[in-house]
Amino acid sequence: MLGGMQDFELRVPRLLDHAAREHGGREIVTYWADGHETRTSWAGIARDAKKLAQALVKMGMNPGDRIATLAMNHSRHLAAWYGAIGMGGVIHTLNPRLFDEQLVYIANHAEDRVLLYDKQFQPLVDRLKSQWTSIEQYICFDGEGPTSFEGIIALEDGHYQWHEGPERDPCMLCYTSGTTGNPKGVLYEHRSTMIHAMAGVSPWLLNISSQAVILPVVPMFHAAAWGLPFAGALSGAKFVYACVNDAAVLCRLMNQEKVTHSAGVPTVWLSMFQHIDATGEAPRYLKQVTIGGSAAPRAMIERIMGMGARVAHLWGMTETSPIGTAGAPPPHWDELSLGEQLDMVCKQGQIPFGVELRVVDDDDVEQPRDGASSGRLQIRGPWVIKRYFKAEADCVDAENWFDTGDVAVIHPDGTMQITDRAKDVIKSGGEWISSVDLENAAVGCPGVAEAAAIGIYHPKWDERPLLLVVRKAGSDVSPAEINAHLAAHVAKWWLPDEILFVDDLPHTATGKLLKTALRAQYKDHRLASVA
Ligand code: AMP
Repeated sequence: MLGGMQDFELRVPRLLDHAAREHGGREIVTYWADGHETRTSWAGIARDAKKLAQALVKMGMNPGDRIATLAMNHSRHLAAWYGAIGMGGVIHTLNPRLFDEQLVYIANHAEDRVLLYDKQFQPLVDRLKSQWTSIEQYICFDGEGPTSFEGIIALEDGHYQWHEGPERDPCMLCYTSGTTGNPKGVLYEHRSTMIHAMAGVSPWLLNISSQAVILPVVPMFHAAAWGLPFAGALSGAKFVYACVNDAAVLCRLMNQEKVTHSAGVPTVWLSMFQHIDATGEAPRYLKQVTIGGSAAPRAMIERIMGMGARVAHLWGMTETSPIGTAGAPPPHWDELSLGEQLDMVCKQGQIPFGVELRVVDDDDVEQPRDGASSGRLQIRGPWVIKRYFKAEADCVDAENWFDTGDVAVIHPDGTMQITDRAKDVIKSGGEWISSVDLENAAVGCPGVAEAAAIGIYHPKWDERPLLLVVRKAGSDVSPAEINAHLAAHVAKWWLPDEILFVDDLPHTATGKLLKTALRAQYKDHRLASVA
């Protein structure tokens, strides 16, 4: 027996229809790479998306075809997402920071048919064009003439009905950063994307309403921009986009447009702090700062909270659409001391409705929520992956649990805390040292700009920590001072055997510390303690 309610497939274009109808005048501002600014609105995005959908159909694109982008955050990129999805296509965001070989592999594996790209990536496009085997059409977002985005949509009238179909149809393809092996594609569906957006706006996750003015520093090419283009349409939020990642520009835009919400990886805030220290100019209207992608250090959270914003510490993965958890204030938040509040936000947050999490040991036995039993973090739910794009087998167990590759504990109050990546924990004398905890404690030491901890072979202990430190400009902080600071925050046997100063640290294309490169570089390093 069926229920008595209507057929209403959860399809992504409905989000844009809603935004255009109910919040049509809400602005979408873009700061372009050449420094000029433009303003459109949700109504303008809807109009351009429909025109692009018409143009894509004329080019011979069919439902299910992959339409790729190689672009920063801007209004035309937003319109392209909805236009490609709206004609039944699959929007595929390529990350311009990947190596050439990865970009060739990914676009060919995805069998992208169209590429929309920013002029600043023209050299990259020219370099790889001959190796991309499936791309037939190249459209420049900010170019001129008939093959530019504006040139192409200018030929259309915008009278277009979105392609209809089942809600389990695919709508978006994102590849994992692939620090080991080839990148893998995660194929989101209309339904998973809609449910993720409906949950994402809630106060315990991204906390977005129509009052929100969002400057997403997270790029649209990283993990679906954390779902913001969808959650923002659902709520009718205003977007402020910047095609550059310069802290001075971001700070000016935040104040000029009265930005209330920002989202990005921790490194974004490191450069913002440098800007604030150098100029005294700080963002003045922020209410919610969502930090994710890697662990947000305590000192960073404290400083942002000191600016009057709430910090949501978000954990997620490309494979989870990407939101898994976010640190939302518990009922007794106001009764907590600042120290207790910081303890709370440093963890990765409560489990929202929509996902289930568990921690298991090496035998797949579920561990108690005691804040001490750590193990592999597993997740399942309607916006969690089941199978990688074109893979022959599922990547989940019989009960749909997906193994995240993260190591975590769950506390008695239900808060999840990532302790490390399974690959990154430092195994010392049969016990685990969390490289993330060491790094976060080190970044709290005055004079330290960034730190990375890796395990180095030790004949007695198996591995011992080596801490690589980038000093802040002008600082001459010493290993002894860093060790003294660390000793107040971590167990004594966790203290690094050696601290080395470096000019910079390698990062992945999405801004995470590239531990594989560091491990390779220091493979033959002999600890002074061993010598
Ligand atoms: P990606 O798919 O590129 O977004 O990478 C996902 C991985 O980033 C996760 O499996 C975690 O290892 C890491 N990650 C994301 N958010 C956090 C966070 N808030 N704290 C610690 N690690 C995180």
